[in-house]
Amino acid sequence: MQYKTPERRCTGCGNTIPKKDLLRVVREPDGTISVDSTGKKSGRGAYICNKKECFLKAQKTKRLENSLKCSISPEVYQNLQSRIQEEESHE
Ligand SMILES: [Zn+2]
Repeated sequence: MQYKTPERRCTGCGNTIPKKDLLRVVREPDGTISVDSTGKKSGRGAYICNKKECFLKAQKTKRLENSLKCSISPEVYQNLQSRIQEEESHE
């Protein structure tokens, strides 16, 4: 049985990555921007690798704002960034 992993494009690096490895950032109908950990929130979504590097890139290039079609305040960015878990730990 063949199973095709769904893939999405990262807003930061632009690579196509299996959806399970990406964070979904969603702008909910009420305008709240949050990380959708369930993948089931309704609203306009954007995908980013679970990496600070990609997140910062998406922020800097405003590609995240473009994808969500709204402006994002520094506070919201900070809040989103705190949800990113780096898989490799550097001590
Ligand atoms: Zn990426």
